[in-house]
Amino acid sequence: MEQTRGRFALCPRWIVPVVPEGELVENHAVVVEDGRISEIPPLADLDSDWVGIERIDLPGRALIPGLINCHTHSAMTLLRGLADDLPLMVWLGEHIWPAEQRWVGPDYVRDGTELALAEMLTGGTTCFNDNYFFPDVTAACAVRAGMRAVIGLPIINMSTAWADSESACFERGLSVHQDLMSEPLVSTAFAPHAPYTVSDAGFERIATLAEEMDVPVHLHLLEAAGEVENSIEQTGLHPLDRLDRLGLLGPRLLAVHMTQLDDQDMDRDARHGVHVLHCPASNLKLASGLCPVEALDRRGVNIAIGTDGAASNNTLDMFAEMRLAALLAKGVSGDPETIPAPRALSMATIQAARALGLEEAIGSIEPGKQADLAAVDLDWQSTGPVHNVISQLVYATDRRQVTDVWVAGKRLVADRELLALNRDQLKEQARRWQQKLKPS
Ligand SMILES: [Zn+2]
Repeated sequence: MEQTRGRFALCPRWIVPVVPEGELVENHAVVVEDGRISEIPPLADLDSDWVGIERIDLPGRALIPGLINCHTHSAMTLLRGLADDLPLMVWLGEHIWPAEQRWVGPDYVRDGTELALAEMLTGGTTCFNDNYFFPDVTAACAVRAGMRAVIGLPIINMSTAWADSESACFERGLSVHQDLMSEPLVSTAFAPHAPYTVSDAGFERIATLAEEMDVPVHLHLLEAAGEVENSIEQTGLHPLDRLDRLGLLGPRLLAVHMTQLDDQDMDRDARHGVHVLHCPASNLKLASGLCPVEALDRRGVNIAIGTDGAASNNTLDMFAEMRLAALLAKGVSGDPETIPAPRALSMATIQAARALGLEEAIGSIEPGKQADLAAVDLDWQSTGPVHNVISQLVYATDRRQVTDVWVAGKRLVADRELLALNRDQLKEQARRWQQKLKPS
């Protein structure tokens, strides 16, 4: 099928603009011009005011803003299922890091990222916030596929295939940032791995550079029990005190996980405008702890949802993640009214865009925004009757109900066919890595 750009009108059964939260629009079209949403006119006006415009009918479909996976390590799809059912430090130290040490390189990152892009796009995800080695390769994959991405520049105080020291991480990362400056769909963030793997000097440098470069700082923070005690033992400071002292606590900080928080910590996050990137499946699978989403949301902390890498989830399914986030918040807080379906959808769209500093460009269906859109077929045995569209999207929809996806007005999935990448080639790549990574 032809990839569509230029000027066209999408005519779905329902439009879920996300802003304002909970709103549903019917009998309207979304007009796209040069990659942006230009207008949302009544369907009845299309024939009179938009004579000759290409019309794409989407019967039974809800049109939503493309989902934003706010925390992932795309290339880790290659480690999916390699080691499961283990605690975080055993999983990392005995399985993931050794496999990465042996195999991570440009080919590995390209093949793993392409698998991830195919999985995300066909599941309605149009943008991802990544943190992995060889960010230049991840970025090149996103550019080739036409997907939007925020590419983390990894900073870690150990020798890796990407860089042999923390200072080498800066050198290489800054050059990747330079190279990506002219890419319209790709931007960067600093991605220090975690407080326990980055030095004080490293954090100070990140704080200064992030300000100069106007980019976010994407950091695993307070993921599991023991992190606070270890930090106090090693540095004399609680991780939040240390980050505060080093100039990191503020609205640029995207704190991933945040399962070890008391009331004071949450008040402080709210005061500093720290964003929380919530990865419920990964936290549950690694039994890391539970993020107090209801208490953070009540304090006005901006929360966005991510899948984490496929090795700790084990899918990159944002529909599953939204559902889990909504359910888990109720279970953790004991309050069935917390994180209702519209808020869960916001956490996967506009709130994610806000965290990434892309709120003006993406995250909702509004005139002037980029046409990053997904059409979801609700005329489906498991989502009928459609008493409430947003409820069906969050609590009942399977990602295979996504039929069409656009990024900046370019159609990357059409009638469930992935146009951006070659599925047969991807399956072959996965088979090759299965052989290589096979435990001996
Ligand atoms: Zn992670």
